Amino acid sequence: MAKILIVEDEAKIARFLELELKHEGYDTEIAGDGRTGLEKALKKDIDLVLLDIMLPGLSGIEVCRRVRQESQVPVIMLTAKDDVTDKVAGLDMGADDYITKPFAIEELLARIRVALNRHARPGQRPNILTHGKLTLNLSSHSAHYGEDELTLTKKEYELLEYLLRNKNIALTREQLLNNVWDYNYFGDTNVVDVYIRYLRQKIDDRFGVHIISTVRGVGYIIKDEG
Ligand code: CA
Repeated sequence: MAKILIVEDEAKIARFLELELKHEGYDTEIAGDGRTGLEKALKKDIDLVLLDIMLPGLSGIEVCRRVRQESQVPVIMLTAKDDVTDKVAGLDMGADDYITKPFAIEELLARIRVALNRHARPGQRPNILTHGKLTLNLSSHSAHYGEDELTLTKKEYELLEYLLRNKNIALTREQLLNNVWDYNYFGDTNVVDVYIRYLRQKIDDRFGVHIISTVRGVGYIIKDEG
């Protein structure tokens, strides 16, 4: 079972989270300050980090920044106040998600599941996704068309990965939004079209191929030939 590190200086909250997560079957570890949190977050057996922002020692934002220099472990920030600056700073530092305290435990558990699925460890899923000459290496997080490396942004990569994982299934814009962006993203589904266009520029246009098809009235699909 996945092991979750709780970095939280308020003992009551840490204890509450520990109990809830254990109840869900997760292993847990607690760190009560930023420095200990950073040290523990870099340990190999940690699968996800719940990271409070207001911490003694190092702030959660700083912990996140330093973790990202060395590790892609999923990080969900816990923000005490509804402070947009903190959220943006956390996401800029590479946090995967954030949740504002007080939160419903069900919501946190849902976000944990999403983050863990996105980052499943090598071995739990195939490490290579292919479609014709297109290859996505999930371990190295790289994409190639034939010998040529594709320079994709994080979102482009995730969108392509999701399309490839669901090959031969027509995916709606909402499905793509919910799975590639935040599952409760309130944005316009146009963002999906914009990113599909980026991918087509980088793959279809560059190599003169037709990888991503539009399904009229539905959304998009990557389909095997024939
Ligand atoms: Ca705190």
